[in-house]
Amino acid sequence: MKTIGLLGGMSWESTLEYYRLINEETKHRRGGLHSARCLLYSVDFGEIEPFMQVDEWDQISQILVKASRILEAGGADFLLLCTNTMHKLYETIQEALTIELIHIADPTAEEILKAGINKIGLLGTKPTMEQDFYRERLQEKGIDVIIPGEQDRDVVHRVIFKELCLGKYDMRSQQEYIRIMNDLTAQGAEGIVLGCTEITLLLKKEEVSVPVFDTTSLHAVKAVERALEDEIPGE
Ligand code: GLU
Repeated sequence: MKTIGLLGGMSWESTLEYYRLINEETKHRRGGLHSARCLLYSVDFGEIEPFMQVDEWDQISQILVKASRILEAGGADFLLLCTNTMHKLYETIQEALTIELIHIADPTAEEILKAGINKIGLLGTKPTMEQDFYRERLQEKGIDVIIPGEQDRDVVHRVIFKELCLGKYDMRSQQEYIRIMNDLTAQGAEGIVLGCTEITLLLKKEEVSVPVFDTTSLHAVKAVERALEDEIPGE
């Protein structure tokens, strides 16, 4: 079994979900007492988030590159960056490593295409929804991306940072998200990408009528698939 490197803490609420999901998936595939071999480097998000506010991505990049190299040196066979937004720095981090950094949008795109869907609505932080780095990764694979209007983007972004990253789950925010998802569907989205690793924690138990692509779970399952590929039984 390969060792999964997790670069997490953004926020730790969703990193916890990654840890649970990769272990559950490993147990599901291998059975018994099997669990995932993994290393976690969890950053202090309170140090990073202020740099995002002022668009100082170089500072964030330095922190994440350093953490990734520690995971590589510690024996990780490949890495997951446990946040969609920080994939803005994907190329820089990947270039600093000799091991693979699995892009969160790739297993997501695979699943969207498998479902025969060509147009999705994207929810996430403002950088994820508004900038090219994430949307282009999906568009390159032939998937059209639509995003909420400006006011609704503010709502989605605010709920992520003021509630979900702090472990707060409010019914009114849940209903707001569902309204925004329904609006995107009415505009032609055939599915919704939960393009922020905490959104699944808010919508988990809620019935949503369109197909939902949960990036946290798709990324975690892809990691287990990769960790177990070339597996010799019993090894
Ligand atoms: N976890 C979030 C994401 O998937 C937001 C926190 C961050 O900015 O990294 O984008």
